[in-house]
Amino acid sequence: MKRRTLLAAMGASVITPVQTKDIPDQAAATGWQNWSHSIAPQEADIVVPRDVATLKKLIGETAGGVRPVGSGHSWTGLVPCDGAIVKLDHFNAVRAVDTQAQTAWLGAGARLKDLSPVLAEHGLAFRNLGDIDVQSLAGATSTATHGTGRELPCLAAEIRGLRMVTGAGEEVEISATQNADMLPAAQVALGVLGICTEIQMKLVARHKLHRRVWFAPYDKVLSDSEKLWRDNRNFEFFYLPFSGQAMCITHNITEAETTPRASDEGGEGVMQLKALRDWLGWFPYLRKKLLSAAIADAPEEDVVGESWQLLSSPRNVHFNEMEFHLPPDRALEALEAVRTHIERYRRDVFFPFECRMTAGDKAWLSPFNAGPRISVAVHTHAPDEYEFLFTEIEPIFRSYGGRPHWGKLNRFTGDDMRAAYPKFDDFAKLRAEFDPEGRLLNPYLRSLFGVA
Ligand SMILES: Cc1cc2nc3c(=O)[nH]c(=O)nc-3n(C[C@H](O)[C@H](O)[C@H](O)COP(=O)(O)OP(=O)(O)OC[C@H]3O[C@@H](n4cnc5c(N)ncnc54)[C@H](O)[C@@H]3O)c2cc1C
Repeated sequence: MKRRTLLAAMGASVITPVQTKDIPDQAAATGWQNWSHSIAPQEADIVVPRDVATLKKLIGETAGGVRPVGSGHSWTGLVPCDGAIVKLDHFNAVRAVDTQAQTAWLGAGARLKDLSPVLAEHGLAFRNLGDIDVQSLAGATSTATHGTGRELPCLAAEIRGLRMVTGAGEEVEISATQNADMLPAAQVALGVLGICTEIQMKLVARHKLHRRVWFAPYDKVLSDSEKLWRDNRNFEFFYLPFSGQAMCITHNITEAETTPRASDEGGEGVMQLKALRDWLGWFPYLRKKLLSAAIADAPEEDVVGESWQLLSSPRNVHFNEMEFHLPPDRALEALEAVRTHIERYRRDVFFPFECRMTAGDKAWLSPFNAGPRISVAVHTHAPDEYEFLFTEIEPIFRSYGGRPHWGKLNRFTGDDMRAAYPKFDDFAKLRAEFDPEGRLLNPYLRSLFGVA
């Protein structure tokens, strides 16, 4: 296996900045599905309002309720509903950029990948990004989407203000000057307080990053991980199941010249991991030998580029994912328990496991609000069966005190969430005030918030 294809398996590629695509007029279509197609096609209308007045009308008058959607990259049942699925694609402006305070009001429906080049023109950038940047700003923040970095919080923690139309159809601003006490409740809100139209984000100065990618024995990566997180702005690693090897990635701020980088190879690497699984799944020794030989030849990647061009990259092979955020002192033990289980019982798994760290914050429903967390993620190829994630892997994460990513596969109930989040009932109370008739709820969210 060539080095580039292995790197591509984990999304090592250049992003070409893309202009926002033409947005259709407000028109109804149906058949919405999430990115991995783990959610069945929906019969609800898909509506793309052009202005706040239309949005208010939609919330107030749609029989069966409404649910906002971003780019549909969540796996949990946050979006399906009987009434209308609302896309905020027209709400994509960048305004009130304050280069001194490093803040800007950004359209809630804008895609992160479209915002970054515009922010760069103002000398600004997001402090951190996750593996992909095709999510809408509101979609990414609503589920506490995160990247990696010991000192770097999730995107939602950077929210300084929001404008939304509540479930009661009222326009509300939550910011430093209005309803400021509600900010920690609204930062991570799953789209149940209101449909956001604009979000004010704290940004940082535009910066370049030095990216290094290398392979190392998994045991060594585990023992070095604390230092790697301490010494690097961004550090993460991917464990390649059945290999004993991990791929490490660091990013650090630099003033060095930008260097060229190979382009995306369309997920070829991950398909090679699949081929090894298909041919040698029942011969773990041979599988490990071949993987190790390929990895041994892999030279380091060492490049410099704009932060937003290096942190995120396309994911061309569709997968299902479970990710839990774990207390740092127990997370690597949990990862080891998951690795042992999968290598013993689940030879069908071939996607690398991902391990990242996120700084703590104060948002009521942020999985990081009790302090920094280390996140461990397990992926399965979209066509493959993934029920075992719930029955075999989730119990391991739970036993180590993990909180699930709000957008990724999990079977936490309302009671589980209440036990995990001290402010859960306060949030549920606020939700009932913002949306007394439950116009923004669907069956999944009703069950989560205990609404009949
Ligand atoms: C390939 C892939 C890679 C990923 N990588 C990462 C990663 O690196 N880190 C990470 O943390 N997560 C990651 N995720 C998960 C993803 O970031 C989250 O699930 C995110 O919420 C998806 O954003 P979206 O725009 O697709 O929102 P959707 O999935 O469409 O919606 C998410 C939530 O936001 C709400 N919402 C959407 N728009 C609005 C609005 N205008 N107002 C109010 N609420 C709204 C929705 O109702 C829903 O509750 C990944 C997912 C995929 C498929």
